[in-house]
Formats: sequence, structure tokens, C-alpha cells
Amino acid sequence: MSEKIPVPPARAETRGYPPKVLVQHFIRSLIDADLAAGRHTTVVTRFPPEPNGYLHIGHAKSVCLNFGLARDYQGRCNLRFDDTNPEKESTEYADAIQEDVRWLGFQWDGEVKWASDYFQALYAYAEELIEKGLAYVDDLSPEEMRAYRGTLTEPGRDSPWRDRSVEENLDLFRRMRAGEFPDGAKTLRARIDMASPNINLRDPVIYRIKRAHHIRTGDAWVIYPMYDYTHCISDALEGITHSLCTLEFEDHRPLYDWVLDHISIDCHPQQIEFSRLELHYTVTSKRKLNQLVTQGFVSGWDDPRMPTIHGMRRRGYTPEGIREFARRIGVSKSENVVDMGVLEACIREDLEAKAPRVMAVIRPLKVTLTNFEAGVTANRSAGFHPNHPEFGEREVPISREIWIEQDDFAIDPPEGWQRLTPGGEVRLRYSYVIRCDEVVRDAAGRVVELRCSIDHDTLGQNPKGRKVKGVIHWVAAEHALAAEVRLYDRLFTDPEPDGHKDRDFLEFLNPHSLETVQAWVEPALRDALPELRYQFERLGYFCADRCEHQPGSRLVFNRTVMLKDSWASGSEAPKGPHMDQQRGR
Ligand code: ATP
Ligand code: MG
Repeated sequence: MSEKIPVPPARAETRGYPPKVLVQHFIRSLIDADLAAGRHTTVVTRFPPEPNGYLHIGHAKSVCLNFGLARDYQGRCNLRFDDTNPEKESTEYADAIQEDVRWLGFQWDGEVKWASDYFQALYAYAEELIEKGLAYVDDLSPEEMRAYRGTLTEPGRDSPWRDRSVEENLDLFRRMRAGEFPDGAKTLRARIDMASPNINLRDPVIYRIKRAHHIRTGDAWVIYPMYDYTHCISDALEGITHSLCTLEFEDHRPLYDWVLDHISIDCHPQQIEFSRLELHYTVTSKRKLNQLVTQGFVSGWDDPRMPTIHGMRRRGYTPEGIREFARRIGVSKSENVVDMGVLEACIREDLEAKAPRVMAVIRPLKVTLTNFEAGVTANRSAGFHPNHPEFGEREVPISREIWIEQDDFAIDPPEGWQRLTPGGEVRLRYSYVIRCDEVVRDAAGRVVELRCSIDHDTLGQNPKGRKVKGVIHWVAAEHALAAEVRLYDRLFTDPEPDGHKDRDFLEFLNPHSLETVQAWVEPALRDALPELRYQFERLGYFCADRCEHQPGSRLVFNRTVMLKDSWASGSEAPKGPHMDQQRGR
């Protein structure tokens, strides 16, 4: 009876998947032109996360773009950690990021790369800039530097230290490295143009003094290079051809180019910017996600309500669905604010064909089948998927007491109601037609039990002389297994929680984003492995929790996404009751 549910075949086929349909976008057009003109013979990209948090759905867009281009052009894509901010970075994050990239179905070229691999080279290039009179050691405090920088409408002013000699700069820079000065006492700045209309070119800081333990270089360095300086050189050292980043770096591109134009390096990657993905009803900022975790608003980075890859995975989202989402939203320079519904649709469509279907009751109402006769009233076998006989089938046991969904019974039904009512009939999915003969209430008048009778002539055939349209799901009380089911709603009540000037995003947290219910599931789920996904008929797609579900002992399922239609297909499947209780419960 407790037959094992087959593993949906699509689970294993994530790596090297064939792209569905290639969507042409401006970055592909640029690459095509580069290849046609012979500027490049191959495509080398990189995905450069900072290991200061878990990846989120926005990063997934960038992962799919960078690794996807490398795959489509048969080039290479590096995974490079931008680890230049030692205080905020940890190996926990770096490990989680690698796991996420692989889970999404991608593999980086060669070893994982780290910006810190290049600390020595970066230092040498800094000395080269000093020797060329293109960098100087500055003694201004951060406040003074800000005052000297000017504004968008006013040019900056030269620092009094800007004209130090090459010898003095070299000496000071070496002593910065040797640890002679306290944190923040001096910086190394590129000597570009304090009057530039682009503030990024007003002598940007390229090195700072910071005594912080680094996850890879330990205490070897007390000076750390700044992101803008590090990124372009790391790209060039790796022979990146196209360096893709989000639009906020557009104004940094002149600095990217300036650095590479003024050091002795042969490679000059092209920086190309695209718009960030923003999703309605959530936040995609690592800082804010971190706040949700550290302040306990969610259970962790992998809380299934989080837009992190770890969270989405735990909730039951599939890599195929996320990749399809990335394909659908496209790549451009225009605003990319997308409704959560687009992501959910991609997940639902993917699960539709690959999730085995079973029955579960999440808000149980007891039904006693008064004319149930053990030995006469038969179990019935049912396929796990109407279109995939290869998923196999299981026995659906029946017993004198069964559970149905509270919502499938109404004393005063609205018009068009096709579920159970007093005196009415309904079909139990894969089983008999039953009639509700009696409604049992408790002292407070609440319906606590229905007493129904089976029409024994209706197993696998229509009742004679009358039509019974409604079909409801159910489980046999004697055989059902208790399961904890977690129902999720959006984490925020506002489409743009961080889009309000005078209100904190935390004010928009949805207090009903998690509801935990004690449910009953078919015995076929007894040995379901963590992370296996199922359709609970009429209720949605559910995933055995990756962390807390224990096959055979403690069953925990997360609702991944609801079904759009209560009954998608199947012989006993009229378009029926709408079990979706999406919001505003
Ligand atoms: P956050 O603002 O969440 O901290 P970040 O840009 O600082 O994000 P990184 O670790 O530097 O995070 O990001 C790695 C890569 O992912 C970068 O190339 C970045 O441009 C890209 N990326 C980050 N967020 C998004 C997003 N919302 N949409 C598309 N790409 C993104
Ligand atoms: Mg960043």
C-alpha cells in the first residue's frame, strides 16, 4: 500500500540543458557583432558575486545571463568572488553561492576564482600608476574628502596632497602596506580629474587601510583595493571578453576603462550594463534580506518566503522554472520590475508535467461512510499523473472514516456549487459517489462530521439516472498520514516595500505570510524524500521540506505554488471548486 512514489524523471536533467528558444537581446547582438568583426573569437564571461549574503532572484537573472551566454556561444564563464570587503564576507556565503549556481544547472570554468587571488598583482599595478604620476597617497579624512569632492553641479577641489612626488607616494604606499599607519589615516587615489562631470572620475580612492581578517588571505594585508579598481583588473587578468553588470555601474564604466588604459595589461574587456531585476512584493537587496534574517522576521536565508535561491529551492521552485523565468523576462536596459505572478507561472508550468499527483486534506472535516463494508468497498489504484503512465500508480485505500476538505461542504451553497451539501451527492476522486445524509454539529453549532452513504454502483462508472458533477479529494482516516503543511503567502503586503520614502520596508511585512496546518496525506507519501515535489490535487504544488522532513517519521510539506485551475485534466475532472485561498485570509 505504501508504494514508493517514483522520482519525477525531470529532476536529474538540469545540467547542460538545451536552451528552449534563444531570445535575441542587445547583448547577444553586441557579441554577434564582435565575433563577426573578428574582435573576439570566443566569449568569456564571469559571474562576480560578493560573498556577503545569499544569492537572490536578481542574481539568478545574472547567473542565467552570464553562464547562459557562455553555453550558447560555447565559451567560458568564471565564477569569481569579489572578496574585497573582508568584514562583511564569510565562507558560509561563498559555499552557499557555489551550491546555488550548480543547483541552477551551471558549472563555472576551472577553479573558483577570487579577487583576492590578484591582491599581489593589483598592488603591483597600483605602484605602476604611482610611478606614472597617476596615483597619489592622500591624507584627507573621509569628511574632508567628501567636502573636496564637490557635487553634481559643482566641480571638486584638488586635495592638498595631490601633487606629492612619485618617490614620496611610493614610499608612503609601501608603508601603508607595511602597516605603519592606522586604519583610515591615508588612502591611495587615482589621479584623474577633480573637475570631471562624472563624480566617479574625481580622483577615486583605489586603496584603503583596513585591519580586518580576510576569509582567504587572513591578516596578510592591511590595505584592500576598492571594488572599481579590482573589478576591471580581475576581468582583464582572466581574459574576460564581455563584462556584464547592472545599470548602476554605467557611470563607473569610464573608470573601468581608465584603469585598464593606464596599466600595462593587454586585455581590455568591454563592460556592458543591463537593468536589474526587481520583483513586486519582495525586496532584492542583500542588506535588507540580511536584516530580515538577523532580526528574526524569517527563519533564515533559506526560509521558503525569501526570494533567495536557497529559499526558493526549499519552497520547491525548480531550476528549470527559474531559468525559464530568466528567459521570459529578457535582458534590456529598460526598467525590469516584474510581478511575482510571472515567476509563479513559470514554476507552475514546469511542475505541471513533472510532479506526481496525490491527495491530501489540509483543513479536515470528518466524514463517516455509514454503509462502508470492509472487504466489499474496494481500494482503487490511481495513476500518479494523467499524462505520464510511466510515473506508475498506487493504491488509494478507503475506510469507514475519511477526511474531506471543510471547504468542500456547505450548508447553504452559493449558486453553481458542485461540492457537497446536505442531501447532495459528490464523487470522491478515484472512488465512489457519496450522498450526505446527516450533518453532525457540536454544542457551538459548528459542523464537525458528516454522515454519508456510498453508492456502491459508482466505482469507475456513472450513477444511473442522474448526473453527479462535483469531484472532491479526500483521504482515508485509517490510512492517512499526519503531515505538517506550510502555506505561504507573499512576504510583503505592498508591491514595492522598499519604494516608500518615509516608511521602512519592514512596515509592510505580511503578518500572514506563513500558516502552518496539520494535514492528512495519502499513505503513498510515507517514504517521500526531502525536496521531492508533488501536486496535492486541487490544492497546489508542494515540496517535502529540505531541512525538516524525515521520510517515514515526520512529514513536512511546503506549498510551492497554487494551482490556477483546481482540476487541470483527468477523466473525473470537471472544472470545479476553487480551493485557492490566496490572500486576505
Ligand atoms: P545587492 O544589491 O543585492 O547586494 P549586488 O549587486 O551588490 O546585489 P553582487 O554580489 O555584487 O550583489 O552581485 C553579483 C552580480 O549579480 C553582479 O554582477 C550584479 O550586477 C548582479 N546582480 C545583483 N543584483 C541583481 C539584480 N537585481 N538583477 C540583475 N542582476 C543583479
Ligand atoms: Mg555588488
